[in-house]
Amino acid sequence: ASSHAAERKALGPRLVKNAAYTFVRPDPIETPELLAVSQAALNDLAIDPASVKTDEFKETVAGNKIITLEKEPPEDTAIYPWAQCYGGYQFGQWAGQLGDGRAISLFETTNPSTGVRYEVQLKGAGKTPYSRFADGKAVLRSSIREFVVSESLNALGIPTTRALSLTLAPESKVHRETTEPGAVVARFAQTWLRIGTFDLARSRGDRVLIRKLADYIAEDVFGGWESLPAKLASNEEKDIFDPKRGVSKEELQGSDESQENRYTRLYREIVRRNAKMVAYWQAYAFTNGVLNTDNTSIFGLSIDFGPFAFLDNFDPSYTPNHDDHMLRYSYKNQPTIIWWNLVRLGEAFGELIGSGAKCDNKEFVEEGVRKEFADELVKRAETLIDQAGDEFKTVFMAEYKRLMTARLGLKTCKPSDFEELYSELLDTLEALELDFNHFFRRLGSFSYEEIDTEEKRKDVAGRFFHHEGLSGLAGNEDDARTRIANWLEKWRIRVVEDWPATKEAMYERFRDMKAVNPNFIPRSWILDEVIERVEKKGDREILDGIMKMALDPFNDEWGWNKEEEERFCGDVPKYQRAMQCSCSS
Ligand code: AMP
Ligand code: MG
Ligand code: MG
Repeated sequence: ASSHAAERKALGPRLVKNAAYTFVRPDPIETPELLAVSQAALNDLAIDPASVKTDEFKETVAGNKIITLEKEPPEDTAIYPWAQCYGGYQFGQWAGQLGDGRAISLFETTNPSTGVRYEVQLKGAGKTPYSRFADGKAVLRSSIREFVVSESLNALGIPTTRALSLTLAPESKVHRETTEPGAVVARFAQTWLRIGTFDLARSRGDRVLIRKLADYIAEDVFGGWESLPAKLASNEEKDIFDPKRGVSKEELQGSDESQENRYTRLYREIVRRNAKMVAYWQAYAFTNGVLNTDNTSIFGLSIDFGPFAFLDNFDPSYTPNHDDHMLRYSYKNQPTIIWWNLVRLGEAFGELIGSGAKCDNKEFVEEGVRKEFADELVKRAETLIDQAGDEFKTVFMAEYKRLMTARLGLKTCKPSDFEELYSELLDTLEALELDFNHFFRRLGSFSYEEIDTEEKRKDVAGRFFHHEGLSGLAGNEDDARTRIANWLEKWRIRVVEDWPATKEAMYERFRDMKAVNPNFIPRSWILDEVIERVEKKGDREILDGIMKMALDPFNDEWGWNKEEEERFCGDVPKYQRAMQCSCSS
């Protein structure tokens, strides 16, 4: 223990140059209490559910026990926990070195049946060289939020980093605005690399590191250069989006492929993945809240859950981040911001593309030599980014349309749908302050007969109002009913176009819509209640109940507690809509 303290001191906060990570050990937790484990995570990591009861599991996810896995020869070295070095642009400003200030990776593990490799890490496990002025800890409150939302997003089909377990550190006192209990989340992802990882290498002129990182991502994370589509995306959407479409031989480049082409392909794959991810956010009204480049994944995963939120009422300018006065990270800005972040990545990749041998010599990283090629680098980066920008837009729009088409229970997307159906719906939801996700779920159970006259449509329109009186409704009620009824008629006509007029087809549509329109999402008010109950009331059942719902969000019942289930799927309590969160966590 004493050597641990000495080591900790030697590893104090500092600038870490010429490195992508630092070996560092988690701080032990006294009498850890395992509060929750995600069954879905156990499955994806291929962990035997029976092992959760063992001390080994509990101590490992608490950071008390370090599993040292022997690597395959020829490397033959034991794995030791590490913290990642990265930088980032925060709110548009270069912030320098950041790094894993309270996250420590334990090991990598591959699921033998899926072949997917994950990096497992602990968050809130103590200080690292990247902790800067902070304590390396995480409070229970934010740990509950991250644990639940990670697994929720995944169950909704949204690419995300994951959470395995939530551990309370009962003896810890973490100082934020007040003193709070601390916790550790064991989490995992195909990679924890972010755009900020490249930003930092670029800011230091470390082209060698940029290249090593890029090669690592292509070879180890994406599974080889061959796995990256070689064809530059055309505007033929079906070509890009058919998930069943394999990559043909002709599309693959030989091993003598130019370096330029390789890194271009890698960059564009990263762009595409992030475009798809943010399309999901927009289609399900999820807001990250702090979209700095260090919080944007290289693998297109939702990552870093601080003051995130799902929208309740549809309000495009909403940001969950209490401190984001400029609304930089508001719902409607997310696609633009993800692109802004990807442009930063393009600038780093600009250092790699081009076959110019002169840029490959090792003095390149030295300032004087760099300057000589500065113009060329900028030009390369600009070309790369220009092309990728078109692709980002195409991929984003196609994915967004695909998701919205499904959410509306349609089979096709006509060019006119965009204006007449989507825009009109979003404007209506915004103007009347209706709940975004409830709208789709409720829409999914209308039969043709329920909405085949103006009168009936005006009648069912009331189902979208908040149930507690019409208090959630902005403006005049009759106008509101008329407006919704008009939209319902447009929608009905489109449904009739896309589906046969049979009962069977109708039930199929109900099923299809249910499967994409969640009944449960972890709204801010629900997470607040869970936190309150776990932290203040010592409730040890609520997390299990909420996780049942979170892991199976499209269901109608979960066999846990009917009353609670209905409440958590129902209207948002009047004064708890669109809450905001402080960044302290
Ligand atoms: P975030 O706002 O979550 O993206 O965090 C920005 C940076 O601050 C990252 O480098 C984090 O690791 C670091 N950080 C945030 N909170 C803490 C903390 N309590 N202790 C150490 N580092 C932290
Ligand atoms: Mg972060
Ligand atoms: Mg964070």
